Amino acid sequence: MQTLNVNKAEFAKSAASHKQFIRTSVPSVVFAGKSNVGKSSVINRLLNRKNFARVGASPGKTVHVNYFYIDEKLYFVDLPGYGYAKVSQGERDRWGKLMEDFFTEPSLISLGVMIVDARHKPTADDVTMADWFKNAGCRWVVVANKLDKLKKSEIEPNLSLIRETLSLAENQLLIPFSAEKGNGRDALMAEIVRLI
Ligand code: GDP
Repeated sequence: MQTLNVNKAEFAKSAASHKQFIRTSVPSVVFAGKSNVGKSSVINRLLNRKNFARVGASPGKTVHVNYFYIDEKLYFVDLPGYGYAKVSQGERDRWGKLMEDFFTEPSLISLGVMIVDARHKPTADDVTMADWFKNAGCRWVVVANKLDKLKKSEIEPNLSLIRETLSLAENQLLIPFSAEKGNGRDALMAEIVRLI
């Protein structure tokens, strides 16, 4: 099996418009999720870093697609977070346009990683994002982050609610995850390594 040296990771590019998207035969793992769901923390956990992808700074402020080049084998593509209440209409519109441009080019996605909050029913925005991944026709997985904040008895019912709300197919992978504690890292990494 191929391995990925996650210690060899570098920031590659920040794209503010479709003209700047990276178009390449190198596989791309595309991360999406609402602001504060822990998207940066999931990326950092995968890379065994603390502060590689930004964590916790001005959510919703960065309407950019950020590219990280991992071990010269694939890109991690960090889509801008959504659903942050305090952003202007202008920022919202820019987000919508950028995402529309991104998802109309399904070749930009080798594997989608959609991150939701394990504690809550997915939001209407989450449902929209899930539909975009479904329509793109790419392989994608759902990551239920912040698992460490659930009681054991809450895990199964919450995962069922996520499955139901996002209308996930039976064979759709849903990975319980904790960026904080590391649960689910191996399962997600296994999906990513399949690309190389
Ligand atoms: P982003 O806006 O989606 O990139 O979210 P961040 O990675 O900045 O995380 C938002 C907040 O959630 C931060 O305070 C993180 O420390 C926290 N967080 C992220 N993942 C987890 C997790 O798995 N468990 C817990 N308890 N907190 C988390």
